[in-house]
Order: sequence, then structure tokens, then C-alpha cells
Amino acid sequence: MNRKTRVRFAPSPTGPLHMGGVRTALYNYLYAKRRGGDFILRIEDTDSHRFVPGAEQYIIESLNWCGIVPDEGVGIGGPHAPYRQSERREIYRQYAEQLVASGNAYYAFDSAESLEAARAQAEAAGQTFIYSSATRGAMRNSLTLSEEETQRLLRETQDWTIRFKMPVGRTVQMDDLIRGHVEISSDTLDDKVLWKRADSLPTYHLANIVDDHLMEITEVIRGEEWLPSLPLHYLLYEALGWQDTMPRFAHLPLLLKPVGNGKLSKRDGDKMGFPVFPLRWVSPTGEVSRGYREDGYFPEAFVNMLALLGWNPGTEQELFSLDELVEAFSLEKVSKSGAKFNPEKAKWFNREYLRLKDDGALADAFLPLLEAQGIQSSRDYVLRVVALIKERATFVADFWDIAWYLFKAPEAYEPKDAAKFWKDENPARVLELATFVRDWQGPLEKDAIGPALEDYIRSREWPMGKVMNALRLALTGSGSGLGIADIICLIGKEEFTSRIDKICKSL
Ligand code: GLU
Repeated sequence: MNRKTRVRFAPSPTGPLHMGGVRTALYNYLYAKRRGGDFILRIEDTDSHRFVPGAEQYIIESLNWCGIVPDEGVGIGGPHAPYRQSERREIYRQYAEQLVASGNAYYAFDSAESLEAARAQAEAAGQTFIYSSATRGAMRNSLTLSEEETQRLLRETQDWTIRFKMPVGRTVQMDDLIRGHVEISSDTLDDKVLWKRADSLPTYHLANIVDDHLMEITEVIRGEEWLPSLPLHYLLYEALGWQDTMPRFAHLPLLLKPVGNGKLSKRDGDKMGFPVFPLRWVSPTGEVSRGYREDGYFPEAFVNMLALLGWNPGTEQELFSLDELVEAFSLEKVSKSGAKFNPEKAKWFNREYLRLKDDGALADAFLPLLEAQGIQSSRDYVLRVVALIKERATFVADFWDIAWYLFKAPEAYEPKDAAKFWKDENPARVLELATFVRDWQGPLEKDAIGPALEDYIRSREWPMGKVMNALRLALTGSGSGLGIADIICLIGKEEFTSRIDKICKSL
């Protein structure tokens, strides 16, 4: 059967979206677009204890910032609305009941205390309790109670659940598009709760399977942490009679810490000074986590960097627009092993994208930063500055540090540099150069005034490096900065002479 490709990103709104989650969304998006299919955003919010206010809005804003725009879903709508599971609660119960009726699930009436007691007892014997085919016969459920008692408890009590009845002695055979064939014995698996009477809500497993079926999902592309749930999901499709249209599965490798082993966590970011979230997040308790957006990353750079964490195009190419990623992406080239995150590489991508940006866009981004510094400058001037310095910056926010002295005269001089360069004949030489520049009649262009200045210095047999450093001290307040001719052409002859007057008076 030839079905239209339909994939979904199905986050739970339990906090800010981790960059690994953004990568999952991205791979789903790329996979769908490559096939002319649909990308759906479904919010899995059936676990009310883990619900965090603002998290759903954060997810939507993050995807929008990245340009990973869903075709259907929360905030957009579509033929399978609603896409928020808490608004679909009526849908799930019938499927849970259907599983009980077909003998694939059962009602469980165990109280929290009795489950706790079973756990404690197992622990005392050095074991871990799992509610499974091995233990369910000793628990309080519709498999062990009479039909009459079961019906009474269903009517009169409120905190029962429906559990999956894990088959005994089955080898579950699964196929993963990234990992290949996987097998596991059903005897190692527990009888997961599928539905809870207490809040009339399904758990993740049931809601996820029912919605993927109803929403006609063709591939489930998700993080590796869901691989242990795959056998249950296979068995649920089978038990519900949906195996013919069961989606194919692809479990993505983990994003790993920059150093050492293990999953990339917020703590790694805090320690090493990089964000793990796309956008800044303020938790309900006021804890602030930095975001790529606020740190000055371009969304294109962030997305490009993420795409290559776990996938490779099979060529040397590293820079990809979103459209190019769509063209190049395939699950075959997603690796099985985890992808080590490299914060320096993330910066490299941003630098590359900054260079690719047109000067107008960069000037527009720089202008408000200048204003915040109290600088009024024309856009034309800012454009010229940006063209000159963009090669040296990683972020737009670096522009000010690189080039502030193109907007105002230095107020002080780096003492160490001053001691080194502002001595001997140099002040007198610099003063003479001020006259040379003031009287310069040629075009105020780098390629004209630059060589002329050097010729002049040479003709006077002054040491080139020393004189240039003294000049730079006068113009920038330190021994480092852009080329002298570049600075003169931007600040102009008048400002140039005024800065030399100033340093002569100050030092
Ligand atoms: N709600 C799950 C999550 O938070 C979705 C897992 C899946 O894609 O099946 O990641």
C-alpha cells in the first residue's frame, strides 16, 4: 500500500525543549519534506504531574525560530484536530476497553500501598518488583478476582487502571530503520499501565499508539530513549489489530557530552558555557537557562549544526540551507552511535553564516546595539563598518568589541601599550603624520592613503612597525585593532587629527 508520508514530533510539555528534541523535530521535518509528506506537531500532555506551564508555547516558538514549521498540529490545526492529547481524552478509553475485551489487557485494583509493599518485599529479597506475567497472578486484578468482584470494584472505586497483559514466552521481533533487526523476550517486559481511572487519561504508551494510528503516521522518528518502549508498541499495534498500517520506526542516536561519556545535559552547558536549549527559558521557579537565540546564534547556523550531529551527507559539504538539507537528508545516513556535541563547532557554524549574511542585514542587527551604547550613526556608515569587520566576528554582538573605536574616540590608553609605544621619537612622528593626513589631497581610500602613508614613513626612515603601533594607540587606545588606513578612511581626516591631538595632550 502506498501511503502519503506522515511523520510527527510529539513532545511532552515538561520543560524547555532540549536541543536533542529540536534535532528530532528537524529530522522528522527533513524526512517528510524530502518525500512531499506532512510533518505534524502533537503535544503529549497526558501526564498532568509533569506538566510545566509555558513549555508548549516554548516548543512552538522554538520550532518557528528554527523554521521547522509543521503542516498540521497544535497552533495550526488540521484534519485530525485536536492535536493536544489532553483534548482527546474521550478517544482513548474505548481502545483500552477493547484491549480488555480481547484479552490483551486487564483491570488492576492494586492500591498504592500494596504496590509499595510488593516493591519493599522484593527489595528485601534483593530483587526489583515488576508488575509482569510473573507477578500479576499474585496481585489484585481482573485476572485474579471474580467477575462479580471486578464489576463491583469498577463501579465503586476510582483509582483502578488498565494494564497491558504482556504475552508469555514471546520473542518480539522488531525492525528499526537505523538499528536494523532487534529481538527481545516478552518475559523481560512489564505490564504497563495504559489507562488510569483516577484522571480518566491514558498513559503515554496508549495515547501515542492510538494517535499515531488515527493520525495515519507512516514513520515514527524519535530519540533512542524510546527504544525500550518499542516491543510494547509493536505488541499494542498487534493487539489492536493495526499491524498492517503500523508505522516504521527509527530511533535516533543520543547527543553526547563534549567531553567524557553520556548524554548532553544542561549541566554540561552551564559548566562549559554553552546553551543546550534553543531559546532562553525561565522556569516557573525563576531559574534562567540560556538559549542559542539569545546567545546570538542565527537559526540557520543552529539548524545546520544540529543536522550534522548524527547525520552526514556522505560528502565533505558542511554548510547546508534548510532546503539543501531536505534535498540531502536520508535516514540511511543517520549513525547508530551517539554524536558528540562540540560547542566550538557550533561557533564555527555561526561564523560561517555571519560571513554569508548580507551587510544590510548585519547593519540592521548592529544598529540597535549601537544605540544601546549611546551611539547615533548613519546606516551607511554602519554598513561600511560591518563590511570591514564581519570576517573577524562570530556573533553580531562581537561587532562592538571589535570596532567601537570607529564610533567614538578612546577615552583612555592601555597603560602597557602606552608605555611600549608612546615613547622616544614616536609622539613627534605621529604628530607629523597628522599633518600629512590633514593635507592629503588624494582620495580617502584605503588603497590610496595606505601606501602613501607608508611611503612617507619610509621616506623619513622611521621604523614602520613602531610608528604604526603608536598611531594605532592614538586611534584605538591600544596596540591592537584594524588596519590604520581602514580606520582613517572610516573616521575621516578630521577625527584622525583630533585623536592625535588628544593623545598628545593626554600622555
Ligand atoms: N511524548 C514523547 C516524548 O516526550 C514522545 C515519544 C515518541 O515520539 O513516541 O518524547
